[in-house]
Formats: sequence, structure tokens, C-alpha cells
Amino acid sequence: MKEHLEIDGDKRMSYYESAAKRIRNIDPNLYIGISQKKYEEVRTKGEYASDATLIAEYYRRVGVFLQHLSREATGIYVGMDLLIGYRIPDDAWDNFVVDFPNFKDIDLSLIKLLSMHYLRWCALIDERNSFALQFPDIYEPIITLFERGGGRISTHHHELVGGFGGFPKTIYATRGDMNPFDISEGALEKIIEEVKFVEAYLEEYRNGDLTERNCIRCGNRLLIHSHITEYGYPWYKIKCESEHCFNKNFS
Ligand SMILES: [Zn+2]
Repeated sequence: MKEHLEIDGDKRMSYYESAAKRIRNIDPNLYIGISQKKYEEVRTKGEYASDATLIAEYYRRVGVFLQHLSREATGIYVGMDLLIGYRIPDDAWDNFVVDFPNFKDIDLSLIKLLSMHYLRWCALIDERNSFALQFPDIYEPIITLFERGGGRISTHHHELVGGFGGFPKTIYATRGDMNPFDISEGALEKIIEEVKFVEAYLEEYRNGDLTERNCIRCGNRLLIHSHITEYGYPWYKIKCESEHCFNKNFS
């Protein structure tokens, strides 16, 4: 049994226990039977944009940790426990689906693997491991991604599948130099809302309504630039007039 943390006389759940509760609450219906589907078939463009923010924040936190360890890079499949010298017990994979039967029929390896490493990290916090204590929230963005239904992530060749592009399989320490991304519920919902708004704008624009719209982030004008690919398909760049504001491509 894991030791309970006692704070101000309050009995609290151990980190492992509260992590296990989160993992157990992940809804399998979000993932069962979708391993053959493409990422974009199971997520809307807005969800995709908020998922990308969570992935970016996970990569950034891992980057900060790598800098702390004076390491240059790691892989997306490598847990933080492995970076500090722990090994995966041989029976971990089998035990995982016994302890978390909601994952039994989920045929996606990355979500299972990272959930397993997250649980081990929380067990290390309970054991007062100094690395784990200094970086207790490192997995927060990726577990939030799984909880929100964005766990259909996988890799192909050198990168994450799903057109994320900016996310190679290798996570570099330089990611840690980026500014933190806001991954609060409100910020993520705002990203989704914004993409929906712009998609509706584009739909009307294509139907001939040229009324201009303003960015919901800053109130400045949103500009639509139409393009044609070399194969003749139209695509659009929608960009806010303000610098470093909304800027996305749609096809
Ligand atoms: Zn703007």
C-alpha cells in the first residue's frame, strides 16, 4: 500500500491513487475501434488545435526536464522514469490492463504506454523521489489530452501522425525554451470556439458572402487569403491583422 500524505492533519489520497483514479475514469468509448481511423477522422479541426496545444505543452515540459538532466533529447515513447534510470518491469504491460480494465479493448499503444509511465511517476512522487518531486506536473498536458479524447496519437517514421508536423518523435531539450502554453480548460475551449467561428466564416465566404469578420481574440480584422495547390485544390489562409494572433490554414 502506498503511504498517505498527511497535510495539516488531512488524510489525502496518495499521488498514485489520484492518478489511478484519473486513468480509470478515461472513457474507453472514446478510443475503442478507432486505431484504424486517422486522427482527423475522430477530432474536429478545433479539437485538433486544442490537442496540438496540449502536445506542445507536454513537449515543452519534457524539454525543461531534459535541460535539468543535461540531456539533449528523448523519444515520445520514453517515460520520465526511464530517463532517471528506472526500468519497466516485465509484467507491467499485462498488469496495466488488469488494473485498468477500461484500457483492455483500446488498441492504441502510445496512450497506454504514457498512462503507465504517468502512474509510475506519481508513485515516485509518493516515494519522495527528488526528480519526481521537482517535476510533479510533467505529464499533466498529455493526461489532459487523453481525458479530453485526443489520445488517438501515434507515430509514423519520424513524427506524430495527424498532420501535427511540428512534433517529431524525438523531443528536444530546446523545447524547454518556449513560453508555457495555457492549457486551462477555458483556454482550450476558447481555441475550439475560435476555430468553429473561423470555419463558419470561411463557409460563408465560399458561398459568396464577403462581409468581413473580426478576430474573437483581439477584435482586429480577420483576413482570408485563397490559394490553389499545385494539384488544383483550393486552400485558405485565415490570419488576424494583429501580429502573432490567429493564423491557420484551412482546406
Ligand atoms: Zn486577433
